[in-house]
Amino acid sequence: MWASWRRSRPSPTPWESLGALPAARSERGPSSRSFVLKELLGLVLLVLFPVQPARAEEHWPMQPGIFNSSEKPYRLNREKLNRISASFERITGWRGIHFEHDAWLCLKEAHLTTTGSPTARAIILKVLQERIIILEDHSRSLDIAFAAIRREATYHKASDLPIFSVRVDFEDFRHLRGHPEALAAFDLGLVLLHELVHAAFDRRDPLSLRGASDPGECEALVNEVRAELNLPLRAHYHSEHVIPSLLSDLSFGRLRFERVVWHGGKPRRTIYFVEWPKPFVSH
Ligand SMILES: [Zn+2]
Repeated sequence: MWASWRRSRPSPTPWESLGALPAARSERGPSSRSFVLKELLGLVLLVLFPVQPARAEEHWPMQPGIFNSSEKPYRLNREKLNRISASFERITGWRGIHFEHDAWLCLKEAHLTTTGSPTARAIILKVLQERIIILEDHSRSLDIAFAAIRREATYHKASDLPIFSVRVDFEDFRHLRGHPEALAAFDLGLVLLHELVHAAFDRRDPLSLRGASDPGECEALVNEVRAELNLPLRAHYHSEHVIPSLLSDLSFGRLRFERVVWHGGKPRRTIYFVEWPKPFVSH
């Protein structure tokens, strides 16, 4: 989510009124609101990253969905899958979302609660219906800061679906410190949602200096999710480089989140930070 390769969401869908959701992997139906239609209308063919040489294509799923890697070194264990599904539960309000057989994200037993973000639900439903996402565990990698996405092939030869790998460094999240509000706004599920927006809508991150003050196209949608969850909004894309003192040999990456809080009838901008020791997270 941070740089070119190092890279780390309307209204309810018609399904949501049903209470229990159908299995998104096996059924198709209207899943988006006006913003999704706008995105589709404006869709241009975009290659996020250069197509890499084929990697074990025979192991790629042929259906759309979010899958655990089938490659042993990158396969997420159950604890990590549970961390993702628990975070997605909080963000979407879908109680019961889980990884079936530790292999794919399943909504079959999910029930919509009164909480959660409609935008996040629309993003995840779109991905589950139109993309193949393979989750890979890259913990303790200095090449991955939190999470990153890579397009594996323009289209799956057999299914005609675009395929992406989302690489996650779970260890990086252990180094995060900051205000509880900022930590909630930058939790595992929201970081993954950023990557899913890349895949679902072909959105890009801001280049060069612009990212210092602009959250970018992906974070703009994730900020809609944060707003629906009453979380502060990310103010910029690129992390700030912080050196606590001249004597310090440890530098920190820092992200700023903001929210307008009303005090005595007047709006006041409140700032929250999340930071991490850079050497422990990335090069
Ligand atoms: Zn990104």
